[in-house]
Amino acid sequence: MSQAEVRRNAIAAVTNYKPSTQPLDFSKTSPTDIFGSNVFNDKVMKERLPKDVYKSLKKTIENGEKLDSSIAGPVAAAMKEWALSKGATHYTHVFYPLTGLTAEKHDGFLAPDNQGGAVAEFDGKQLIQGEPDASSFPSGGLRATFEARGYTAWDVTNPAYILENPNGTFLCIPTAFVSWTGEALDKKTPLLRANQALNTQAQRILKLFGRNGERVNSFAGPEQEYFLVDRNFFFARPDLLIAGRTLFGGKSAKGQEMEDHYFGVIPRRVLAFMLEAERELYKLGVPVKTRHNEVAPGQFEIAPIYEQSNLATDHNQMVMTTLKTVAKRYGMACLLHEKPFAGINGSGKHLNYSIGTAALGSLFDPGDTPHENAQFLVFCAAVIRAVHKYGKLLRAVVATAGNDHRLGANEAPPAILSIYLGEQLTDIFDQIKKGGAKTSKTKGMLQVGVDTLPPLPMDAGDRNRTSPFAFTGNRFEFRAVGSNMSIAGPQVALNTMLAESLDFIATELEKITKGDPKKLNAAVQKVIQEIMVKHEAIIFNGDGYSDEWQKEAKKRGLPNLKTTPEALPVLTEKDIVELFTKYGVFSERELHSREEIYFEQYCKIIQTEAELCLKMAKTIVFPAGVRYQKELAETTAAIKATGIEPHTTALDDVTGKVRDLQTAIAGLETVLAKANGKTVQAEATTKCTKVLPAMLAVRDAADALETVVADDLWPLPTYQEMLFIK
Ligand code: ADP
Ligand code: MG
Repeated sequence: MSQAEVRRNAIAAVTNYKPSTQPLDFSKTSPTDIFGSNVFNDKVMKERLPKDVYKSLKKTIENGEKLDSSIAGPVAAAMKEWALSKGATHYTHVFYPLTGLTAEKHDGFLAPDNQGGAVAEFDGKQLIQGEPDASSFPSGGLRATFEARGYTAWDVTNPAYILENPNGTFLCIPTAFVSWTGEALDKKTPLLRANQALNTQAQRILKLFGRNGERVNSFAGPEQEYFLVDRNFFFARPDLLIAGRTLFGGKSAKGQEMEDHYFGVIPRRVLAFMLEAERELYKLGVPVKTRHNEVAPGQFEIAPIYEQSNLATDHNQMVMTTLKTVAKRYGMACLLHEKPFAGINGSGKHLNYSIGTAALGSLFDPGDTPHENAQFLVFCAAVIRAVHKYGKLLRAVVATAGNDHRLGANEAPPAILSIYLGEQLTDIFDQIKKGGAKTSKTKGMLQVGVDTLPPLPMDAGDRNRTSPFAFTGNRFEFRAVGSNMSIAGPQVALNTMLAESLDFIATELEKITKGDPKKLNAAVQKVIQEIMVKHEAIIFNGDGYSDEWQKEAKKRGLPNLKTTPEALPVLTEKDIVELFTKYGVFSERELHSREEIYFEQYCKIIQTEAELCLKMAKTIVFPAGVRYQKELAETTAAIKATGIEPHTTALDDVTGKVRDLQTAIAGLETVLAKANGKTVQAEATTKCTKVLPAMLAVRDAADALETVVADDLWPLPTYQEMLFIK
């Protein structure tokens, strides 16, 4: 079948689409009944575990106490019985390697009983530790080849669950993935370490405010954006299939400028898909809450209720997997790439982030009393200081080839990190800065711990979408995270940066108060004042998309790391290594391995895209161009033969555009042949500064051809078709 036929068939298949799945009926099984039904949750554990085992396990889960290894046996036995009752035949340790994906390796419960039969087996040892042959996961030199294996270790804090397949189910056990030398090979281990560091430092602050021993955790509510396209189009576009984004495609006559898609009526097929995806997620205990159309045509969002960070992170991975698998059942492909289509919005993942305790809730909530207000201001000042000191780190942890197309592309936050506080809160910090302890008598100046803050407005929707890091009433929203990424990295950075700031503030406050609570308010006032004098440059409430901000940010000395090759070296800069090693989150080796792995990933992605770009340009676009050229040439000759002078410029036009395409292809080939550097960093830089522009030149030439080649000869589904035929 020719590529043009594939395109026509795709259009026909989409227009004749009939749902093949059985309709769901929520009145028979309500979401509240389904919720968590496939999770080995607290209720199940209480029912199935011996009392003392349950109690001991709870302590580990809730207070982070060390796991009593003698309980692994009874827990494994209960888990196995529960899983078997749910029809499970296999179990798997689920882990999160540095590819950002979810990994699993299944083992059967089945074991021969040596009497010709078989029994289901699963013991404490198998629960606690697994040994996937994972030598081909990236390790950045952390594993020498002679001991290429890492092991997975049960993450007690997140519950096990059952995944369903039409032909059976299996038990999933969340795990951390480490090398035999104890180095983190995954996304989870550093997050657990960073949570620990945050807890330790935040507790010191709480203690000064008279609260003792409450565990502080970080919380995340990730808003997941994604695109849906019909699977027939998806398969007719090698670029979507292989690279996850379109490398070619002229602008659709209609894009997102009418703003008629955002919050519009959700198309029927899409809604049907959402209902089933949500149902699957309910079963897994993922508290998905909101769904809506996003700004770009074909773009949507799903958001859960926020949860403790480790759980929210695993749940977000489940959301991504579920969106992809369920979309298939509805004849669609879910695109999680940060920029699947040029010229319209890309997809991000707004990470709503807060820290808090079970009793106090969010520590970024201003509260109602002067005492609560003072505590809030301390935590808020810690964030301001942290983001100013380590903004470049926040930039580095969201640096990927995919996200580079989005950040700073005038519809997503810029690559410059700044904080949006809103007018009122900015004013309050300004008063503290100007007032300070000495001049606090000045009329109208706010005195920390004495005056009550005015009620701060909760952010209704996205009031300032242009800020990468916005205060939204009781949390911060980090908007530079890419749609395709694990949210672990950004949280590891945030928690560690914040731990360092809280450590600094606690030390200062302890020095001044010397254990006298009466001195606290004045001390807080003084410390916050100093912080504001030093760090207020990070606050920016204006338009982050504007050119003025680029200039202003430069004046303020804020880094503007535009691309991944510029941002990744931050991971091993001296202050960052000190930060992570000081709080035991990453060793220097672990940081170097990460930098190397992420550079490698970047290079591999661009290499693949460039090769694909060449292949498609040469074997799909170019032939379409010359075929049309031939048709025009023959027609022109035929007209001439009748004695009429064919006054057409079309042939010249097409000839010119085909020639441009050939030139661009040759250009990319030349550049790509030389795009290997001595180091991964050098290679990444070449890929970024030479290969990407050369790919864009090929695309421009191809897209120009798309505007003139006869539609029946055009081989690739167009933007218009992919985005508007639902
Ligand atoms: P919006 O589009 O206005 O930003 P959404 O409802 O789409 O709001 O998403 C907001 C997200 O923030 C949800 O996941 C919500 O649970 C989460 N969230 C709310 N409060 C907190 C908090 N204190 N800490 C972390 N996340 C929070
Ligand atoms: Mg939001």
